[in-house]
Amino acid sequence: MSGLLVVMEQGGGQWHRMSWEALAAGVELGKQMGQPVFAALPGSDIGTLAAEAAAKAVAKVHAVEHDLLKEYTPDAYTAALEQLIRKHEPSVVLFPHTYQVRDFAPKLATRFGQNLLSDAVQIRYEGGSPVFVRQLFQGKLNADFRQSGAGPHFASIQAGAYRADTLAAGQAEVETFTPQLDASQIRTKPHEPFREAARAVDLTAAEIIVSVGRGIKEKENIAVVQELATALGAELAASRPICDNGWLPMERQVGSSGQTVSPKMYLAVGISGAIQHLVGMKGSKTIVAINKDSNAPIFEVADYGVVGDLFEVVPALVEEVKKAKG
Ligand SMILES: Cc1cc2nc3c(=O)[nH]c(=O)nc-3n(C[C@H](O)[C@H](O)[C@H](O)COP(=O)(O)OP(=O)(O)OC[C@H]3O[C@@H](n4cnc5c(N)ncnc54)[C@H](O)[C@@H]3O)c2cc1C
Repeated sequence: MSGLLVVMEQGGGQWHRMSWEALAAGVELGKQMGQPVFAALPGSDIGTLAAEAAAKAVAKVHAVEHDLLKEYTPDAYTAALEQLIRKHEPSVVLFPHTYQVRDFAPKLATRFGQNLLSDAVQIRYEGGSPVFVRQLFQGKLNADFRQSGAGPHFASIQAGAYRADTLAAGQAEVETFTPQLDASQIRTKPHEPFREAARAVDLTAAEIIVSVGRGIKEKENIAVVQELATALGAELAASRPICDNGWLPMERQVGSSGQTVSPKMYLAVGISGAIQHLVGMKGSKTIVAINKDSNAPIFEVADYGVVGDLFEVVPALVEEVKKAKG
């Protein structure tokens, strides 16, 4: 067994942004293991996306093409990837830790008598096998995990754990793999993807997030930060107390019991920076914090900080953003 396989994700011809982070994790581990890294992209009519992946420093891209992969189903994805993995026998198979991966990857791993090591924040190669680091107790502890046996070792990578922008450019070949699939194998009928189901928000796909905390004081004031989010074209998110109070829906909560996000910019407004919040956003590329307490722990992870009253700072910022956008 040799080589690493990174299973990338697209839906309706659009990349899931975390695919690139998983690829970056694969490339990093590949270097340590001295093994080539292959990408796999399941779907239908995905030539353009496969070519984009092939423009990164990978050994080859397997475009796993079939009409029955047009819409995601766990049965078709599992069957198709099982065939690809049996053919190429990679030693490690990595995925982005998306909702879709959580759905089918454990089933795929069990086809090989393995389990999926989910939500890894780091992988290193030590003593001849990969060591996967996972967080325990709301990020207070990091634990090392090794899988037994020769592999393949299956793991998913936490959002924000690896930086997509570390991926070097390359020129790889795209090889089309056509799995043997039959409609009778597929027990589910896909409807609308769950990410687009009524009011569901996938914050992991947002490029800019404006996140609000208890400093906002009352529900009616949420409009103040909503205005900033709108001006920046950002998604609105929140710390847990805001969602617990029902001021914003749970699906907008960031943190250990909410979503883990890694946008290009995370703007924390009136958030203290408790560890349970930090674990969900520390992978953001640029962190901006607005807080009236200069000792707030959020400033320890912030790239830019404004010590001030959010009710003065945010409206001023909205004005400036509007001016800058013309
Ligand atoms: C098991 C467990 C799981 C948890 N999961 C999560 C989670 O997923 N996500 C999460 O966020 N939390 C989570 N928490 C809660 C976490 O411990 C904190 O209580 C929470 O993050 C605090 O939210 P906050 O920063 O909005 O509020 P606070 O800690 O109360 O901070 C409010 C901040 O606003 C500032 N402020 C006040 N007024 C103004 C003003 N006018 N202008 C500017 N700044 C102002 C204050 O200086 C303060 O720093 C969890 C806790 C536990 C025990």
